[in-house]
Amino acid sequence: MACCGPAGEKLVRVAAIINMRNRAAGRTGLGAVMGSKNLKAIAVRGSQRPTYADARGVKRIAALGATEYKTNRGMQELGELGTAGVVLGQEFAGGLPTRNYQAGTFAHAEEISGERLAETILVDRDTCYACVVRCKREVETDDAHQVKRELGGPEYETIATFGSYCAVRDLAAVAKANALCNDYGLDTIGAGATIAWAIECYEEGILSDAETDGLALRWGDAQAMLAALEAMAFRRGRLGNLLAEGSARAAAQIGPDAQARLITVKGSEAPAHMPQVKRSMGLIYAVNPFGADHQSSEHDTSYEEGSGERSLGWLAELGLTRPMPATDLGAAKVEFTLVTQYWTSLMDTLNLCQFDWGATWQLYGPSTVAQVVNAVTGWDATLPELMEAGARRVNLMKVFNAREGFDRDDDKLPPRLHEPLQGGVSDGVRVTEEEIEQAKDLYYRLAGWDVETGNPTVARLEELGIAWAMS
Ligand code: SF4
Repeated sequence: MACCGPAGEKLVRVAAIINMRNRAAGRTGLGAVMGSKNLKAIAVRGSQRPTYADARGVKRIAALGATEYKTNRGMQELGELGTAGVVLGQEFAGGLPTRNYQAGTFAHAEEISGERLAETILVDRDTCYACVVRCKREVETDDAHQVKRELGGPEYETIATFGSYCAVRDLAAVAKANALCNDYGLDTIGAGATIAWAIECYEEGILSDAETDGLALRWGDAQAMLAALEAMAFRRGRLGNLLAEGSARAAAQIGPDAQARLITVKGSEAPAHMPQVKRSMGLIYAVNPFGADHQSSEHDTSYEEGSGERSLGWLAELGLTRPMPATDLGAAKVEFTLVTQYWTSLMDTLNLCQFDWGATWQLYGPSTVAQVVNAVTGWDATLPELMEAGARRVNLMKVFNAREGFDRDDDKLPPRLHEPLQGGVSDGVRVTEEEIEQAKDLYYRLAGWDVETGNPTVARLEELGIAWAMS
């Protein structure tokens, strides 16, 4: 059952669609779309088992994953620590967004890490249907927050947005924010990042006490962070109504100083993988049709020398054979970004979990994806044909945007992402606007799009068999 919560009913622009009480279709405000249509929930009940063209083949591939899990240390760590397990790695690399993306290191990273979560508030691991990895968290706290396990535990993005983004070091408060988002139907990235933006505006005197209904929004104040979240979810008071618009629209109401502090692309708040230290994230955040997204291409770190035979071998199956440092954004990295964008688009098209079915360290690689599609459907699809399906989806989204008036100028990062980071190992590191613009030129050419407009050409759409989408 997929439903929108009170946030969707109140048309909060970062409202999510929730299923299983703790799984979210989080980004882009789809909960508000449901709310706008007075649609509370969609429930589906099945009474028959699915059939497969080659049931034995499907079972063989399922067994392959279970066997692989026993020796794949990366996947075991994902199971043990959840996605929260990357907090310390991000901190080490200087890529843990802190105080609204002003810094890439957080002095209290350890206190909000996956390791600390596992030692303190984790009560069980949860799973999606039939998955051996069990990377989902169930957490409980018996402190003032009273977090209940059925609302799930925080993912990495949630820990970063409500934790380091807001300079909050209280893991139980972050778990509470996660539970409230699942209960009220809010996107944790959009909600946490909007609050971090508001804190910076308040600290800088851009937001007044009148605008926050007297709530002092201070870095590191967990109670204020939670109070702002409650206000946002129910559009309570002046502050709630402001935050419920999401940071981009809220900033447009306040003025240029507030807009200068935005971390948004196409109006959507950026996730917690920093383009300054993983350069291709800057390109994909800019060009992705639905705004900054960290699950729309593979990450730079899997394409470095030393990423391991598995990562590099699977990327080679996609024709990517030129590994390079994570901070490189040359022609080969642009190719990596586009090809793995098609790849992740294919994952989304097939409804496959990117953690299990990836092109890097996961349980299954690209060629196995072709095998499972054929075993399920009885087709004889090749990997290049499937990759074309991924490309088709990206092009369709872009054509939709073009129809709505978007062009190259909308494919840009907010000014804050071009400023040097402050402190820690990534002190002074920045990604320049010129770098992104040059990468965009290469990207559009490689995608077969118009370099001037950044939109698909008729020739490319004809090649993909979707020229009809232009009309
Ligand atoms: S399907 Fe993916 S998200 Fe779900 S438990 Fe398995 S690895 Fe985690």
